Amino acid sequence: MAISENYPLFIGGDWIDKKEKFDVINPATEEVIVQVPNAGPEEMKQAIEAAVRVQPEWADTVASERARILADAAKLMRERIEKLAEIMTIEEGKPLAESRGEIGYAASFLEWFAEEAKRIYGDTIPSNSKDKRILVIKRPVGVTAAITPWNFPAAMITRKIAPAFAAGCTMIVKPSELTPLSALEIAKIFEEVGLPKGVLSIVAGTEPAALTRVLMDDVRVRKISFTGSTPVGKLLMKQAADTMKRVSFELGGHAPFIVFQDADLDEAVSHAVLAKMRGMGEACVAANRFYVQEEVLESFTEKLASRLQAMKVGNGLQEGVSVGPLIEPAAVQKVEDHVQDAVAKGAKLVLGGERSGQNKGYYYPPTLLTNVNEDMKVTFEETFGPVAAILPFSTEEEVIQKANNTRYGLAAYFFTRDVGRLFRLADRLEYGILGANDGLPSTAQAPFGGIKESGLGREGSKYGIEEYLDIKYISIGGISR
Ligand code: NAD
Repeated sequence: MAISENYPLFIGGDWIDKKEKFDVINPATEEVIVQVPNAGPEEMKQAIEAAVRVQPEWADTVASERARILADAAKLMRERIEKLAEIMTIEEGKPLAESRGEIGYAASFLEWFAEEAKRIYGDTIPSNSKDKRILVIKRPVGVTAAITPWNFPAAMITRKIAPAFAAGCTMIVKPSELTPLSALEIAKIFEEVGLPKGVLSIVAGTEPAALTRVLMDDVRVRKISFTGSTPVGKLLMKQAADTMKRVSFELGGHAPFIVFQDADLDEAVSHAVLAKMRGMGEACVAANRFYVQEEVLESFTEKLASRLQAMKVGNGLQEGVSVGPLIEPAAVQKVEDHVQDAVAKGAKLVLGGERSGQNKGYYYPPTLLTNVNEDMKVTFEETFGPVAAILPFSTEEEVIQKANNTRYGLAAYFFTRDVGRLFRLADRLEYGILGANDGLPSTAQAPFGGIKESGLGREGSKYGIEEYLDIKYISIGGISR
């Protein structure tokens, strides 16, 4: 399905076309959906200039006006949910119901930060001198930039622009070149609700390293917020050092999903399906390693297999489909490699493991592996696909050690009805997000983010806005005469 609409770039509040274009591909059909102007360093420079120009005025806009813009944008986004969901499914592949869910999730960040914009409070601090008062104020960081991935093409953008705008920062977004359309739809929404020109730019192009280099080298860009893979995050962190930019990184993960024998097994299985299969497993918080206590290993495996087997694979636009295509051929190859590696090292294939019969589209079926051990890639590299790998364990101590044995620290899930154990695990699991009897913990009011090599900083919640605020204090003298 091709899209008839034009998608120029959004730079400094203007829609910019360019002769040189790149194809946006539908992963379900391998067809070109539309062509988008291919931005280069010149367009990125224009976006920075526009942001620099409008930044002082935007920083001084009253909070209620910034809140109004965010709230109106959320409303428009919800009104357009059907159109936006369809565009997302066509460019990213996830089933339509999930795309609708993501649009709602994306709008919820705009709503949350519309409220937070009004609550940027300061402090007064007792001074050590009778003659002085100390006042703490918070001011926007200034011009900021967001570099975002393809797997949540709308929510990963609003999770950044909402706190940035709430705080009074401008933002240049470089979306993934695989999913620029959702980003450009967000720009249309903000233009319609009256966001001043230059506060937002969307600069998409096929040379991400060259585009982001312009941002990283410019001393006037005061912060970057990156969501993507850990290797690229590390690269950007090094580049940020030269101008000492503030940084936020939401990086990769390798989530353990732990099922104790005292868990409600049916609940655990339902949540396992959510934590594993949302977005075909292409989520940073996707469950990668299923640790199941020996007593319930067999029944958990059987129940999960039957749930996965019932999932319909196909084009996400079709009714009843719950597993769409992966994003690109390289993603399918990586999943295939992980499964073949596991099988070669002794894993048992309970379900799936073979590419589906479709002629077109980057499909891979739900796959379940048992007899898995820690030498297999599935247990230490992000699979980013619909593969569940099950490993047995016997004691709480053993599973905590195994679950923590990774450089990642984004999300962990555990299922138990023992309250003492729940808190012991919450204390000891080295992860920023803990789903205790919950396979879907993400929400706008909670602080999303990782520890270890999964990142720095938090998004959403009352903490999210702090990433876009500088703290200053005023020491006021001459008080007591
Ligand atoms: P990616 O790192 O390849 O790309 C992310 C962004 O960085 C894209 O905009 C891309 O164009 C850009 N980029 C790529 N190479 C670059 C370079 N050399 N210099 C500068 N920019 C570059 O990641 P992806 O494949 O788009 O997304 C998948 C990854 O994102 C996974 O590792 C996943 O776990 C992670 N992710 C994390 C979160 C989170 O909140 N922690 C959320 C979603 C995805």
